[in-house]
Amino acid sequence: MRYYISIQLLEGRIQAAALCADTLHPMRERVFEEVFGQQCSYSHIQVKVKKLISQVRHQHEQEELAGISLSLHAIVEDKDLTIRRAFELPCLDAHNLVRDLGADYSCPIAIVPIALAFALHETASFPKRLSPFLAVYLGQVVDGALLLKGRPLRGHISYSCNVGHINLQAHGPVCGCGKSGCLEAFTGSLAIVRRYSALTNTPPLPVADIMAKAEAGEQAARQVFADTGRYLAQGVGSLINVLSPGRIALAGPLTRAYPFFKPAMTEELQLYAFAAFLQGLSIYAAPAWNKGLVSGCCRVFGNKDLEQFILF
Ligand SMILES: [Zn+2]
Repeated sequence: MRYYISIQLLEGRIQAAALCADTLHPMRERVFEEVFGQQCSYSHIQVKVKKLISQVRHQHEQEELAGISLSLHAIVEDKDLTIRRAFELPCLDAHNLVRDLGADYSCPIAIVPIALAFALHETASFPKRLSPFLAVYLGQVVDGALLLKGRPLRGHISYSCNVGHINLQAHGPVCGCGKSGCLEAFTGSLAIVRRYSALTNTPPLPVADIMAKAEAGEQAARQVFADTGRYLAQGVGSLINVLSPGRIALAGPLTRAYPFFKPAMTEELQLYAFAAFLQGLSIYAAPAWNKGLVSGCCRVFGNKDLEQFILF
C-alpha cells in the first residue's frame, strides 16, 4: 500500500502521521510529536522533522512512501519553495526546508500553508463552481486561504491570503509578523492572553485556561472573547466586502471559544460588511479542523493545479 506522511509545524509542536495515499485516511491512530521552543534553530527543526519521518517509516516498513507534505504558517516562494517568512518559526526564514529534506528522501515533498491545507480538505466535497471559499485559521498565528473554483489565489511570488495581517489600527500593537496593528495582534492567542491578564490584573495564563474559564461562566474570560469577536468582525468584514465569499470556515484551537465570540462577531459584522454580501453567507467553525489540516496538506499530490507546492 502507498502512503503519505503529513507533518504540521504549529502551536509549538511538530506532529507527523501516516495517511493512506488512496483515501487520505490515517493509517494508524498513532500521531508522532515533537515540541519546539521559541529559540530553536533551523538545524534543530530539521533534526526533529527527520526523527518524526523515520518513526513513521519504521511503522510502515512494508509499505511505499509516496510523498511527504509539511504544513505551517509561511510565505513560500512559488519558483523554488524557499520560505520567505515563517511566522511562528522565524528560524526557517530564507531556508529551503523542502529541498534540504529532499536530499534524504526519494519521494515528492510538499509545503503547504496551514489555512490552505484546511481549505483543501474542507472544500474537497464541494462542487468546483462554488463561490469564493474563505478559510481562517485562529491560533497563535492567524492565517487565511481563499479558493476560487477550488484553486488557491496566487500572488506574484507565492500563494496569498494572509488574513491575519489585515491592518485594524494605525500604529496598533506589534504583531508576530513584525508589523503593527494586524488582525493577529488583536485576535491571536497571545493577544487574548495579554488582554485577559490586563483585564483581571493577573499573570498571563495559557489561552486554553482562559477558554476553560469562559466555559465555566467567568465574565472576564467571556468579555475577552466577545472583544475578539468584534475585532474578527472588523477584519473579516473587510474581506467580505472585497471578496463576497459564499462560505467562511474557521479552524484552529481558538474555535473552541466560538460560542463566546460568535454573537459579538455576528452583531458587529452588520457594521462593517455589506448587507447584500452577508445574505446567504455561511460562517461556521469546523469541528474536525485538526483532521482537516492533516489530510488537506496531502491533497496537493496528484493535483495539477497545486504542483507549485511540491518538489519532485
Ligand atoms: Zn501581522
